[in-house]
This record gives sequence, structure tokens and C-alpha cells, in this order.
Amino acid sequence: MKKSLQIHKKKTHSIERKHPWIFSGAISSNVEDFEDGDLVTVYDHKEKVIAKGHFQHATISIRVLTFEDEEIDQPFFDRKIGNAIKVRRNQQLFREDNNICRLVHGEGDGLPGLVVDYYNGVAVVQCHSIGMYKSVDMIANALKAWLKSDLIAVYSKSSDTLPERIATEDKYLIGSCETPHIALENGVKLNIDWITGQKTGFFIDQRENRFLLAKYSKGKKILNTFCYSGGFSLLGLKHGADLVHSLDSSKKAISLTEDNIKLNNFGSKHKSIVADAMTYMKDLPEDYDVIILDPPAFAKHRDKRHKAIQGYKRLNAHTIRQIKPGGIIFTFSCSQVVDKTLFNHTITAAAIESGRNVRILEQLHQPMDHPISAFHPEGEYLKGLVIQVD
Ligand code: SAH
Repeated sequence: MKKSLQIHKKKTHSIERKHPWIFSGAISSNVEDFEDGDLVTVYDHKEKVIAKGHFQHATISIRVLTFEDEEIDQPFFDRKIGNAIKVRRNQQLFREDNNICRLVHGEGDGLPGLVVDYYNGVAVVQCHSIGMYKSVDMIANALKAWLKSDLIAVYSKSSDTLPERIATEDKYLIGSCETPHIALENGVKLNIDWITGQKTGFFIDQRENRFLLAKYSKGKKILNTFCYSGGFSLLGLKHGADLVHSLDSSKKAISLTEDNIKLNNFGSKHKSIVADAMTYMKDLPEDYDVIILDPPAFAKHRDKRHKAIQGYKRLNAHTIRQIKPGGIIFTFSCSQVVDKTLFNHTITAAAIESGRNVRILEQLHQPMDHPISAFHPEGEYLKGLVIQVD
């Protein structure tokens, strides 16, 4: 349904600065009878259209799709999605040795609430707003129009990301494809299962950081903690690691890792470990040259930030204390509420606690297919460091 609403006179500045979220407190109209997912036209106090977006009964009440007075229809989605795909093609993410990338990254692509991940012909659509979920058919049409022969199927997977009050069905919108489906990241083969896997099936956001590990792998013994399906392990083995150990607390994740190791014939140089990383890292039973720490978000909300920092500090201090002299640590945080500066300070605190000398060699972040809108700094979430311990 199309509806209209007005914004308080003093609350328009953030919209004028193109921030894509409108909070409930900024709305002056009565929106009680609005439905989740309604397409709304937003007026300022002078009755001028200042935005259009998807409404939802939540703290973030409107996710803005446009700041112009334009129709939100099939041509709108065609333009936005076409632009996002063009950017990925320019970034050389469709290559002979790579056919995995994020095609649409929410606010970063001007489509708040929408994620589209691409796995060798299959586009997996994940909606984080009810309005986007109601638009999935237009989204699928746009993907088909732009991907043409590069598209086998479109799968809609939003049951994990939408509020329970909305009925969702995960299903193919276009075509179908058997899972696991084999796709390529930087020359490594991966089994991808969007139906049973976490998120859309794979953590695409670590592609460039995994590739960076290649430089540090030759002849090395690597421990990949929080490995999920083994992305870092595979890149390390492809680039000459002597031995890789992959650790995850989930048996399912370890079985995905082992399937991927088999798929690439890396079995002789690999061992998996099912364990809680926080406990395992307290007293490492073996020496490693390279250790990867890529935990899940320790804090999803600001009120959990302090506890999260303690968690990152403990994990990193244990690792720094025990790694071989000259050892390399790839350490990450994907908690949006822990910013780059705070994360760096936490690693410094861990280094002090460990009593060893630590150098920062490289500063890492989310890749180019996870862009950040200049008007939405909240879009920055993944940060990491490559450190060397003397
Ligand atoms: N590094 C991975 C992505 C990590 S996702 C990649 O490159 O794809 C986070 C992973 O941490 C998940 O697989 C989850 O099962 C695992 N995990 C969560 N808590 C854990 C814990 N306490 N110990 C070990 N693994 C854990």
C-alpha cells in the first residue's frame, strides 16, 4: 500500500544529509494504521516530498529508497540493481577464477534492507525489511534482466532475517539449482548451500583478506579458528601452506570445511578440530606460524560492547602470548558497534597483556563489493589487522 506521512520540522536535517534511516521519533503523523512494508512518501513541514521508502513498525521506521519524488516500481529496481551489478563487473569480480560476490549490499548500494549474494549463477536474495520482502519479484526480474546468461536461479531466503510476525517462505523465484553448488573464490572451489548454510551460504566479506593470507602461507603451519566452511584454510593450502588446522565449535561447520578440503584435494595437509575457540586458545597444544581469529560478532548492540571488548582482548592476548616468534596473526571483528579505533586499542591492550612485542603490518576491512554509503557510516562493520609478534 502507498501511504504518506510528515516529519517534524526539527527532524529533517538527517534526511537532507541523505541518511537512509528515519527513526520513529522523527514522524509527526499518526502511523498506527500503517502496515509493515508499506511504501511511504515522506513530506517535510512545508508539504514538500523529501523521501520515499519502506515503512515498518520498529525503531527504524522508514528505510529510504530515494530522496527524489520518483516512482518505486520495476524500472526503479532495474536502475538500482543494474548499477550495482555494473560496479561488480567493473571490479572484475566475475572472472574465470572467481564467481562469488555480493551483488547488492543494502545501504551501500542505495537499497536499504536488501542483500543479494551471487554464487556461480545463483543469486540468493536476503531481505532485512518487510518492504523489501514484498518487492522480491521486482528484484528477481531486475536480476534476470541484468545477469542474462550469467543467471541460473534466484533463491529468496529471508526467514532468518525478518521479524517472526511476518509469514515468509524460502523458495526459488526463478529457476532452481541443486545444492551444494560448486563456485569459485580466487581459484579455490567451494561447495555452497544457501538452503542449509549460515547467512546466504558463505561469508563473502572475507574474500580479499583470504587472498592476502596467500602471501603469508608458503611453508607455514596455520591455525584457522572460527573457520566456518574453511575459506581461509583453502586459500592457505592453495598457496603452499605445509599444514592447516581448522577449528570451529560447530560440527556442521567442520563437516562443510572437510567437504571443501576434499573438493580441492588438500586432505593430506589438513586437520580439523571441533572445539570452543575461547577455551582452546587458552592453552594451545601446538606451535603455529600463522593464526586466524575471525569470531562471530561478539556485540550486536551497543549495550554489549564492553563485554565484547573483553572477549576480543582475551582471545587476542592468549594468541599473541603463544604464537611462535615471528608469527603472524590475522585478527578480525565484525561487530558494527566496535569501530576501527576501538578495535586497534583492544589489540594494543592484548599485546601489552601478553608481554610480547607486536607490530601492525596491515589494516584490513570489508571488500569493495560491501560498499559503505558516505551518508551512512554505520555501514562499516568489518575490520581487521595483520600483526607480527616478535
Ligand atoms: N572465518 C569464516 C567465517 C566465520 S563465521 C569464513 O572465512 O568463512 C563464525 C564461525 O564461528 C561460525 O562458523 C561459528 O560456528 C563459529 N563459532 C561461534 N562461536 C564459536 C566458538 N566459541 N568457538 C569456535 N567457533 C565458534
